[in-house]
Amino acid sequence: MAVASTSLASQLSGPKSVSSYSGLRRSCSKLDHTQSLSLFQHLHSQLRLSSSSRKASRGVVAMAGTGKFFVGGNWKCNGTKDSISKLVSDLNSAKLEADVDVVVAPPFLYIDQVKNSLTDRIEISGQNSWVGKGGAFTGEISVEQLKDIGATWVILGHSERRHVIGEDDQFIGKKAAYALNEGLGVIACIGEKLEEREAGKTFDICFQQLKAFADAVPSWDNIVIAYEPVWAIGTGKVASPEQAQEVHVAVRDWLKKNVSPEVASKTRIIYGGSVNGGNSAELAKKEDIDGFLVGGASLKGPEFATIINSVTAKKVAA
Ligand code: PEP
Repeated sequence: MAVASTSLASQLSGPKSVSSYSGLRRSCSKLDHTQSLSLFQHLHSQLRLSSSSRKASRGVVAMAGTGKFFVGGNWKCNGTKDSISKLVSDLNSAKLEADVDVVVAPPFLYIDQVKNSLTDRIEISGQNSWVGKGGAFTGEISVEQLKDIGATWVILGHSERRHVIGEDDQFIGKKAAYALNEGLGVIACIGEKLEEREAGKTFDICFQQLKAFADAVPSWDNIVIAYEPVWAIGTGKVASPEQAQEVHVAVRDWLKKNVSPEVASKTRIIYGGSVNGGNSAELAKKEDIDGFLVGGASLKGPEFATIINSVTAKKVAA
């Protein structure tokens, strides 16, 4: 499945093709519209066939990658002891599908409270970490401290760290390398701003941010890539399933060409940006969307559970 999907991307982005990344990149139209449509339909049917052949082994289709569905909740700088206690209680009583990795990222101050009260079914992530070993770095939190408090993941490269705090690609790559070397999983965020999308630079920006991770990290074993278009984060303006899918295909194709087919296949590529309980199922149906990173809607336990359980949208109806 991964091969079929990535070959779709390479064929569509290759020199002989029409750009089918819906205007994200300038078109190189050597095929006319009818030819490209038929190429797309042909490849799409191959994808479907390939999906069906996986049915027996895992009971899940519509996944181009081989990784388990992954949903992260980024609580950002929200919450109080009381509101977090209520959220944890809602999550503890929620019925969650088994075939999903679930992670929440509380504010640092509340990680201990969450770790001591939240079901072990859900892992804990930091929202950021220092670039090296802890020490005289006022206001920072080290990877060692995150591990000490029970976190197993860290979110790095979030757009608010990039564009509000001013972290650059190389700094973020170094942070990822340090966290991975110390044994934390990394949710590596990438994504374009609205003006970059409108200028046709979506892929350039995403690939540049990906390359900074690739240049720095020791391995891709514990990395989940979160594609989060900046214009969709916290705006209520979710990317359409097609918009998200075409970037996810391109990201997987980039990994295939620049890292390895194996990494392209096994790396979870999750979508973030105004995901909620009403839109997650449609997004989850897309082959290259392996889960979600959720901000606002992760602060409501029942809604976050609905998003987690949208993995069922990937399953074949009996
Ligand atoms: C995020 O901050 O990672 C995010 C996706 O936020 P929201 O879901 O609120 O858009």
